Amino acid sequence: MKISSHVYQIDVKPLGYERQIAVYLVVGDDYSLLIDTGPRCSLETLYSELEKIIDPKELKYIALTHIHLDHGGGATSLVRRIGTNTRILVHPRGVKHLIDPSKLWDAAIRVLGREVAELQGRPEPISSEYVKGIDDYENIDIGGVVVKAIHTPGHAPHHVVYIVHPDNIAVTGDAVATYYDGRLHPVSPPPFKTELALKSIDKIIAEKPDKVAVSHFGLALESGIQILERAKRKIIEWKNFIEEQVRKGIQDPDKIYKMLLEVDEETMYIVKVRENNPLFRGSAYKSLLGIYYDIVGKVK
Ligand SMILES: [Zn+2]
Repeated sequence: MKISSHVYQIDVKPLGYERQIAVYLVVGDDYSLLIDTGPRCSLETLYSELEKIIDPKELKYIALTHIHLDHGGGATSLVRRIGTNTRILVHPRGVKHLIDPSKLWDAAIRVLGREVAELQGRPEPISSEYVKGIDDYENIDIGGVVVKAIHTPGHAPHHVVYIVHPDNIAVTGDAVATYYDGRLHPVSPPPFKTELALKSIDKIIAEKPDKVAVSHFGLALESGIQILERAKRKIIEWKNFIEEQVRKGIQDPDKIYKMLLEVDEETMYIVKVRENNPLFRGSAYKSLLGIYYDIVGKVK
């Protein structure tokens, strides 16, 4: 689906589930650049969707928002499949984990559980010549279109947001929110860093994007500034809610989560939309845990 002059939104449909993971293809006059690939398990869907728009063999860059399996897990397999011209751009801290994904895989099993990690698929290793670190505020010129990388830690230390010009769309991965039908909640599983995440959203706001497109799921309906401000407010709202309960002596995050769902209709709505997908079941709860552990100062 074309969402602006140069940007296409692609639903990679992991395990056949729609509206779970979006990736974005940016088509310039000279080259194309794909922002995220989704997990390895949805590679075939991605490939056939790409073929409808471009010749995948001519894809010059795969730019990753971060290396979590649901965003970059399929990147190395896509490069292996399409041949030698494609380069993966990633936060400098992510480079070694693409070349040798064994630590990334161990972490994924720890965080997601073996079953969900296996469903998403184990990333394949790749030779170092295919992977390049991307600097904060680095521009990638693909001919008539410039994609600017902004380092945005918080969700993960290796998170990058991309701003596409002249379209002026920010492709924000998991740095801003999970967003469905106008509702949103933070994407903040442990080891989330609340203050860093808020600062990162400020960095995006400073770019004044007209629109924001998230990974889960799609182009936001509101203006860029509106959605970014709302996402910040929601993180602060959750943080305040959790702190309030902890001060009252409620320490059990399960209990705090249940109380949150009673008052937070937006989050409840998103939980209902996503709960039948095995890859994302419990995502909102994990997001609450990330802010809880960050502010209560416990190490998970
Ligand atoms: Zn994600």
